[in-house]
Amino acid sequence: MKVTAILHGSDGRARGVKVQDLMNGQEYEVKAKAVINATGIFVDSIMEMDVPTHEHMVKPSQGVHLVLDKSFLQSDYAIMIPKTDDGRVLFAVPWHDKVVVGTTDTLREHPELEPQALESEIEFILNTAGRYLTRKPQRSDVLSVFAGLRPLAAPKKEGKSTKEISRSHKIFVSENKLITITAGVFSLNLSMFVLASVVSRGLRFFLFAWLIWRYGAPIKVFIDKYFNILAIAFTVLLIGSFVAVKYLIQ
Ligand SMILES: Cc1cc2nc3c(=O)[nH]c(=O)nc-3n(C[C@H](O)[C@H](O)[C@H](O)COP(=O)(O)OP(=O)(O)OC[C@H]3O[C@@H](n4cnc5c(N)ncnc54)[C@H](O)[C@@H]3O)c2cc1C
Repeated sequence: MKVTAILHGSDGRARGVKVQDLMNGQEYEVKAKAVINATGIFVDSIMEMDVPTHEHMVKPSQGVHLVLDKSFLQSDYAIMIPKTDDGRVLFAVPWHDKVVVGTTDTLREHPELEPQALESEIEFILNTAGRYLTRKPQRSDVLSVFAGLRPLAAPKKEGKSTKEISRSHKIFVSENKLITITAGVFSLNLSMFVLASVVSRGLRFFLFAWLIWRYGAPIKVFIDKYFNILAIAFTVLLIGSFVAVKYLIQ
């Protein structure tokens, strides 16, 4: 299903999408309370459907990986070359009976559905990896080539190289309340989220355990005495948070 248009309500807010089934061309309208645009390098085209004059948010950065025979890396461990000629990191990772080597970081002007690896990128990987593998791979040793585009946040200043552009996530809410989220690195944001969540849960647990350990008996007396008031306060808080969430996504 491909999103082909954003549907707006009478209040101007994004209230759904028009999609097309690419197998048979059939079009559908999908209504929603809120629309979240998480289409990677294509976020700008969706944002344009919402506000045609919007400023571009993403700059695609091409990354290429090569697949070589495993004999080029006689180890079950991956290697990382932290500093290459142009300052980028290169990996060689064992994968079944092959080894995957990459990557590059090449700024591209436009998002493309089928990105193509540049010969200069393939040469860069072969030359750099050749210094660390069992022997220098030739062009004819390349079994397969993968190319992908990372959705990097567009820099404010022109002329920045991709490795200088922020890879952190960006969240943007348009004037019509279309929510757009994008990130140049998936795992970093995920690990930060997991870390934050684990730390906050851990802190809450220790605070709770300390309160029970320190004031166990008085807390029990307090709960027995004010049970009705506490129950009412809890119910009000619960209903209040449901109303707040409902209001926020309207
Ligand atoms: C070569 C390379 C190496 C990378 N290495 C790493 C790494 O080591 N660690 C790491 O954390 N990250 C890495 N990344 C980055 C990571 O892949 C991206 O940050 C992540 O995929 C972004 O997730 P996303 O959900 O925003 O977009 P995507 O994963 O691109 O998903 C967007 C989705 O939207 C869909 N879509 C687009 N347009 C439409 C439309 N009009 N209608 C309907 N659907 C649509 C697409 O089909 C796709 O399914 C790498 C990227 C590349 C290219």
